[in-house]
Amino acid sequence: ANVPAHEQEMIARRRRLLGPAYRLFYADPVHVTRGEGVWLYDPEGRAYLDVYNNVASVGHCHPHVVAALSRQAAVLNTHTRYLHEAVLDYAERLLGYFPPELEHVMFTCTGSEANDLAFRVAKAHTGGTGFIVTQFAYHGVTNAIAEMSPSLGSSMILGNHVRTVPAPDAYRSEGQDVGAAFAGHVRRAIDDMLANGIKPAALLVDTIFSSDGVFTDPPGFLAEAIDVMRKAGGLFIADEVQPGFGRTGAHRWGFQRHGVVPDMVTLGKPMGNGHPMAGMVARPEVLAAFGERLRYFNTFGGNPVSAAVGMAVLDVIESEGLIENAAKVGAHLRGGLESLANTYPIIGDIRAAGLFVGAELVRDRRTREPATEETARIVNGLRARHVLISAAGPAANVLKIRPPLVFSKDNADLFLTALDDVLAEVVGR
Ligand code: PMP
Repeated sequence: ANVPAHEQEMIARRRRLLGPAYRLFYADPVHVTRGEGVWLYDPEGRAYLDVYNNVASVGHCHPHVVAALSRQAAVLNTHTRYLHEAVLDYAERLLGYFPPELEHVMFTCTGSEANDLAFRVAKAHTGGTGFIVTQFAYHGVTNAIAEMSPSLGSSMILGNHVRTVPAPDAYRSEGQDVGAAFAGHVRRAIDDMLANGIKPAALLVDTIFSSDGVFTDPPGFLAEAIDVMRKAGGLFIADEVQPGFGRTGAHRWGFQRHGVVPDMVTLGKPMGNGHPMAGMVARPEVLAAFGERLRYFNTFGGNPVSAAVGMAVLDVIESEGLIENAAKVGAHLRGGLESLANTYPIIGDIRAAGLFVGAELVRDRRTREPATEETARIVNGLRARHVLISAAGPAANVLKIRPPLVFSKDNADLFLTALDDVLAEVVGR
């Protein structure tokens, strides 16, 4: 890639100042200085179509959210040890979007902390420590949660109390019942824990299986595995950091597609549209043991500014009909990808729920050999055309298409045209 001189300097400076652990997107990294709606802009004012950002879910720098943030930041910002209406009003509104069994919400700053809290609560409630996650899951950065995030690197980091199960992958399960197969894996993982003296605490999954490669169908496939975990005395924790807040187009939460009610739900990314806020929603009976023994204080979690921002994000989801938009534009995007799949056999499978779309690329539709290098060339080719997406899955061969929810049909067409062009370049028509 042809990286301009100034950006090369910035890369060297990052390495010098931030050290070796960070990664950039793209062979030619994107330098952005401004965002608006679905667009990001570089210092020269060139626009990039953001088809990837699920944090700025209601659109980059949405004026209603920015105004709410600045208004509250100019008046007061403290924490949850003082009385303040904003956190209560927000909690009340947020809980109103959940099944009635889930009555409490606790606030954190990151999805990692929300999962970490859920882990502690699950341990206190069940007296167990055993966690089951999927084989290429990501749940966060704390030590406890990194120990259950196999996608971070090697399975060496996994805790002794953690078991992994294959993600519910309908594409590679040859007409099997995906839900029954997933439940079977969970049952075997529980048996293995018990054989090693580990008491099960919870099944923790990202309900859209984002880093495993985006697995959406058939809806309902989670139910059986959750039953198995509950019968073994464990809980079900839905990680909604990726699919939450309306992205799936039919519901506000990914677990709703599966017709289940979790014991805990963790939230993050789109909750504050870029402002760092996250949370954990729980059934009261599950939270009781933790609450009796321990107190919880998160300096920044649940502060009045975050509460104002969170409320403004919910306003925009409602007032702009973003869940309906996710359904409508998501279906349009899926249709466009299906017609590209008629031209390009490299597109082996398309999985979508609203504006969370995965397109799995394979060298051969029969063997399903992952087209890993081609996927990287396509992602970089799109970047060269100022269209931003990324790749997911253990073989990094699934195009991860996950734009802000304000994405329009025109935006989708622009993306599809660019993808057609890149596919023609990389694999030929
Ligand atoms: N869970 C899932 C499914 C995620 O994708 C992420 C972030 N990529 C997290 C948890 C952790 O969130 P955070 O980066 O806010 O700690």
